[in-house]
Amino acid sequence: MDIFKEIYDHEQVVICNDPKTGLKAIIAIHNTTLGPATGGCRMYPYQTFEHALNDALRLSKGMTYKCAAADVDFGGGKTVIIGDPAKDKTPELFRALGQYIDSLNGRYYTGTDMGTTPEDFVHAMKETNCIVGIPEEYGGSGDSSVPTAQGVIYGIKATNEILYGTNQIGDKTYSIQGLGKVGYKVAETLLEEGASLYVTDINSEAIDAFLHRAKEIGNTHVKAVSGNDIYGVDADVFVPCALGGIINNETIDVLKVKAVVGSANNQLLEDHHGDILMNKQILYAPDYIVNAGGLIQVSDELYGPNKKRVMEKTKAIYNSLLEIYRYSEDENISTVESANQFCKQRIESRKHRNSFFSHQKRPKWEVRH
Ligand code: NAD
Repeated sequence: MDIFKEIYDHEQVVICNDPKTGLKAIIAIHNTTLGPATGGCRMYPYQTFEHALNDALRLSKGMTYKCAAADVDFGGGKTVIIGDPAKDKTPELFRALGQYIDSLNGRYYTGTDMGTTPEDFVHAMKETNCIVGIPEEYGGSGDSSVPTAQGVIYGIKATNEILYGTNQIGDKTYSIQGLGKVGYKVAETLLEEGASLYVTDINSEAIDAFLHRAKEIGNTHVKAVSGNDIYGVDADVFVPCALGGIINNETIDVLKVKAVVGSANNQLLEDHHGDILMNKQILYAPDYIVNAGGLIQVSDELYGPNKKRVMEKTKAIYNSLLEIYRYSEDENISTVESANQFCKQRIESRKHRNSFFSHQKRPKWEVRH
């Protein structure tokens, strides 16, 4: 493979190989214009080095856009560990990773992603300050699904503002896929506001728990549906909070909703499905704009954990999304393209602020000026 062709868009790619602990990892730093790079660490038994590298490159680039959209002082990065999270984890492996991260001297901060947990990073923290999203008992900010769910609610409000001229959420019907950490909280808020819901989850216990909560709230306008039936229900807004790739040719054919707004990562199977949604006059809230609450929380840890401040910052999702929707309408482009342009402009407009190697290592909780 022509490695420089693969990484032409990235500032730095670090290959970590520590035979003593078995650590094999790739750290990709895409862009540090807005600040040191950040992005979680994924652990997965990649079949080949190329698969792992591609994932690190693709995900780190996505983080650059996500950070720009969320208006946090970070650029995009990502780590992938080649290994099986069920078998290959040891404290020593994560300490070794911590040493590699520390060697970057503050240019990159990481935390959990698929296959890793906050507890893994308690080990990495022994070697570096550049860890975010750690458990509350270790000075971190705790469960990130709270601001993520709040961000989805702001996303729904902005969407209703565009569709109906009012940001009220209680007089509509929503279809919710996934009642996990984020979906449950979103569904609960909608229910408390008086909305009607269709819900689904592959875990029947999650559905039972939610139906029980609906009774407690006193709003029984909730109908549980099974599996793929969620795509064709008669709702105003589809709220995907489970899997990626669920917006595809098959599901778009049956969707009756006027909008899609949810937390799930990579909702569009391919980018052009954003255009198909637009042609079908279904408003799509780009996932990485709407689900940025968790990122806002972990990046805010640099200033010391503060839930109130995180909730204030999460409100910005509402105005960002309105801006993206309006630009998409003015320019007759999909909301996905509009969001990408929004982020590129934000990065471009701040290029003067930071230079490539300007990020110096500093004490974790020190406020930057
Ligand atoms: P979670 O694992 O707590 O919940 C996911 C729920 O979806 C589970 O209840 C699961 O049973 C259900 N599910 C899985 N497959 C399903 C299917 N085919 N149909 C219906 N339900 C299904 O995860 P979460 O933290 O709530 O995250 C939800 C989504 O939001 C994920 O895509 C995640 O990547 C994304 N996200 C989460 C955060 C966060 O802070 N937690 C931040 C950004 C993005």
